[in-house]
Amino acid sequence: MTQKKTGASRRDFFKTMGAAGAASLLLGPGSALAAETMTAPRRPFGNSGVQVSTLSLGGMFDIVTNQLVLHQALKLGVDYWDTAYSYTGGRSEEGIGRYFTRFPKVRERIFLVTKAHRRTPEDLQEQLEESLQRLKTSYVDLFFVHAIREPGDVNQPEIKAWAAKMKKQGKIKLFGFSTHRNMAECLAAAPGMGFIDGIMMTYNYRIMHDKDMNQAVEACHKAGIGLTAMKTQGGGPVADDSEGEMQLGGRFLKKGFSPFQAKMMAIWEDQRIAAICSQMPNLTILQANAAASMSRTALSAGDRRALAAHARATAGCYCAGCAGICEDALDGVAPVADVMRGLMYARSHRDLELARQTLAEALPAGPEALLAMDFSPAQAACPQGLPIARLMREAAEEMA
Ligand code: SF4
Repeated sequence: MTQKKTGASRRDFFKTMGAAGAASLLLGPGSALAAETMTAPRRPFGNSGVQVSTLSLGGMFDIVTNQLVLHQALKLGVDYWDTAYSYTGGRSEEGIGRYFTRFPKVRERIFLVTKAHRRTPEDLQEQLEESLQRLKTSYVDLFFVHAIREPGDVNQPEIKAWAAKMKKQGKIKLFGFSTHRNMAECLAAAPGMGFIDGIMMTYNYRIMHDKDMNQAVEACHKAGIGLTAMKTQGGGPVADDSEGEMQLGGRFLKKGFSPFQAKMMAIWEDQRIAAICSQMPNLTILQANAAASMSRTALSAGDRRALAAHARATAGCYCAGCAGICEDALDGVAPVADVMRGLMYARSHRDLELARQTLAEALPAGPEALLAMDFSPAQAACPQGLPIARLMREAAEEMA
């Protein structure tokens, strides 16, 4: 694949478009007013009986100093809020708690999710209690075991019993997990676990065409498990600034929406997905995403084909999270998929701090440990054809 470097990114795009310009896409003239008076659509969250906004406010940012985003999200009907114990050292949860303290009546309107990284009932309990204190609430609507690596991380009788106990005590209403590794395997196992109400997983215009993933989504949907898609832009460890990406952008801009909006719209077309969780640390991204969720314009068959063709043409930029393949080829000595995710944060999201944090959690020995490893068996096994050895070396150098 030939790539022409242009350095464009989602952030650059919005800088170029400006808040009003980005938000006005899709809604046409007078859109600022339209966006004020319209609200994000709603869908059932699995069989829970709850309707959620199809756009979820991803809270991986300092919400203590960014209360206006919450305020505006509410106005736009975005009342599914997502946070985690680990986000921004607690300032994400604390920011939501601050908002609930200032506006106590808002709490009941929000479908609130938090997550804990821990894996034992005792540890989960400790993090849940601290989360509730930070959030200034007595319950969360959905509690996730955060970023599971395989079904066994959550499919344990002790965790099942703990989740039931927390529900009985009214501290959580629904229970589930989030995952961005081995997603198809984790989702496929969920219906059989018998206690999973909701899942948040990587799902985008690339992954949605994978047969195993599609079957796993179908199985969860049939089982009444509420599904939330994340990482819907399909960014990878190699920034996709190809000519094809630019052409795709031009195609969608001519129709009145951005390529970022189009990639989200492709997911919303899948009715099995209840919501998209998107990091929205500023009003510009919030307005543009909300406008996309309210769009009266559908993607055409040609648009869908263009997205699928682009996914195929740039597969070598994308890590599909199938960690069981590359990491097994290395006998589990290196967290290749996590390093790829770190590179994605650095290169596609342009967030070096988050990239370093991801690597530090995955590789306590430090990124330089990657320089001493032989990645050739993993590279030979990778179905995406990623140049794993080179990318691991670059990660070690860029994130040292
Ligand atoms: S590096 Fe390749 S094999 Fe490993 S998770 Fe990514 S796509 Fe899958």
